[in-house]
Formats: sequence, structure tokens, C-alpha cells
Amino acid sequence: MRILVVEDERRVASFVSRALRENSYTVDLAESGEKAIEMATATPYDSILLDIRLPGLSGIQVCRELRDAKIDTPILMLTARGLVEQRVEGLDAGADDYLTKPFAVAELLARVRALTRRRAGSGRMLRYADLELDRHDRRLTRAGRTIALTAKEFALLEFLLSRAPEVVARTEIIEHVWDTHFDPGTNLVEVYVNRLRQKIPGDGNSKLIQTVHGVGYRLRAA
Ligand code: CA
Repeated sequence: MRILVVEDERRVASFVSRALRENSYTVDLAESGEKAIEMATATPYDSILLDIRLPGLSGIQVCRELRDAKIDTPILMLTARGLVEQRVEGLDAGADDYLTKPFAVAELLARVRALTRRRAGSGRMLRYADLELDRHDRRLTRAGRTIALTAKEFALLEFLLSRAPEVVARTEIIEHVWDTHFDPGTNLVEVYVNRLRQKIPGDGNSKLIQTVHGVGYRLRAA
């Protein structure tokens, strides 16, 4: 799950992105509304956290412009406490939800989960074959046994599982699991797929995570 955080205050931006990264989300930062529109137009984010107070274009204007451009990425607006008009204006501009500052990390994560879930059309648990992934507790079990994953391994498997047993294109994996610093010349996707294969091997000769040459990967139980 890849999230765009739009916030000009460094302290808030780094606090929010750290909390999200610790929970296996991929995070990109935009410090202005103009930059946010450019990034959200170029990348299909799973959700956007949009501060209402920004230099230049306001969060409201950004939201309106994105919706006018038919970009329907779920938007969580960050607003100031007590300003009812601001929240109403945000929702009217096309935001899906709002969170008033200051907020607790637990609430931020719960709102982001709700928004991305609505988008992905799936609930807390993702299941395929004997794999069970709990998106809330960030936990993977296989036939009841817990398997420890790093944040990036978790994000990659979550994406593959959300589409299993369909083939997921490598470019889509990069768009949803890696951030803007991803260098397409590297073989990082392959490296992470191989790490996952070691942690969740298939039966006998068949791999649970199959390579579809020239396209991408899919989960396929024997
Ligand atoms: Ca701000």
C-alpha cells in the first residue's frame, strides 16, 4: 500500500511517515499542493493524507482539483481542531474522511486502514491456500504458524495476496510497494520475491510465488 503524505510542516510529516512505514506502508512526501497534484496524477496511490493548511494551494483546492481530474484515490484530510466549516468544506471538496490535529497514531492508522480497505475491496484478513495475513496486526501465518516478515516483505506479499491467484504486473508492484526513490534499473523486486520464497516455499518443485515471464508474479498453490 502506497500513501502520499501532503504536509509542509517537517515535524508532522516525518512523524506521520515514520508511523506509516513502521506499519509496512510505502510513503511519499509532498510539501506543497502543487507537488501533490503532480505526484497524485503520476502515481496510483492507495490513499492520500492531505493537510488542509499548505503554502500556495490549500488542501481544499488540491482535493477539488484531483476530483475534477477524475482521480478517485481515497483522501483523508488533516484539519485543525474545532473548525467545523473546514471539515464540511473538505468533505464537500471530495475528501473521504478527516482527522483533526493533534491526533493519536492509533487513530491515524485505523482511518488509513479503513480507507485503503474500502479501496481494495477486502477486509482485515487476506487468505490464500494455507496463508493468512492479518492487515491490522501486520502478521502472517501459514497453517497456523507465524512467519516473521520485514515491512517491505509484508507489503509485497500483501499486494500479491490481495490479487491472488491473478498475475500482478511487475510495474504495478513497483507502483504500490516502492516509493519514488525506486531505481527501475535494480532487481530489488526479484530480491524481495526470492526472500519471500525462502520464507514461504511451495510444495516440492512448484513455487508458491510463480514468475510469469515478461509480466510479473502470481501466487498459485499446487
Ligand atoms: Ca500544514
